Amino acid sequence: MIEKLRDLSQRFDLCCINTGTLGYREPIAITANRIAEAGFKWITPWRQEVDERNPQLAADAIRSAGLKVSSYCRTTYFGGNTTTERKTAIADNTLALEVAATLGASSFVAVVGGLASESTDVEADRQHIRDGLSALMPVIRSTGVRIALEPLHPFYAANRSLLNTIDQAMDWCLELDPKGECFDIAVDAYHVWWDPNLSQSIQRASSRINAFHVCDWLRNTQEPLLDRGMMGDGVIQLQKMRSILESCGYQGLVEVEIFSRDNWWKVDPSEVLRTCADRLRSVC
Ligand code: ZN
Repeated sequence: MIEKLRDLSQRFDLCCINTGTLGYREPIAITANRIAEAGFKWITPWRQEVDERNPQLAADAIRSAGLKVSSYCRTTYFGGNTTTERKTAIADNTLALEVAATLGASSFVAVVGGLASESTDVEADRQHIRDGLSALMPVIRSTGVRIALEPLHPFYAANRSLLNTIDQAMDWCLELDPKGECFDIAVDAYHVWWDPNLSQSIQRASSRINAFHVCDWLRNTQEPLLDRGMMGDGVIQLQKMRSILESCGYQGLVEVEIFSRDNWWKVDPSEVLRTCADRLRSVC
């Protein structure tokens, strides 16, 4: 299977840096310049780095660094205890889709949210989330920015995401958007590596998978949110996962996304990027 892999060693035009990897320590213009200097061609920024009242500033900074925007991170959680709360989330996500369009992103990443703060009704809250996604379809069509549903590890079901497997994401895509006009799926190795149906679900969802996020799951992780490992430092067989994706037709980017508060976020950003480049070549 490995022989099907695209060779990333000289192909940083296939690689993207999610700015979460650098810990949001510097303004987006500086971050973009560092990523470009490290040889990468693509960036996925986060909303807290962008002045959403004037997103042209960030768009110009990224463009003048010579980078293209792959995706924009991420949705406000769709769940809510009341109709008003849920409508507020839809309005906020509408704004973010418009910002993503200004940035030139083709995709807006959805971390859909977990249970509403006063709810324990998993099924009702999943329905509210699907309703929220569905309500965004007109603005997805008008902006041309699609939403990438990102399943999160089930550890996060209560507080961050009631969407937890690739199969479930594909079910939602087919239910909400059978023609494939609005929703794609982002596969983050960190969230799905454990799935006993990984190969089959990638195969089933292959027509919708438009992103592949890489980092590593540290064998003795201290906590699953901000202790992600550098590729090669943990237990995920990243090359094997990429070979499954590519053998199913995936031709998109490989995006590095490492949230590492106590380790990589304390390392000089340019050193982090050099390490990412080395590991993309050697273990991804
Ligand atoms: Zn991700």
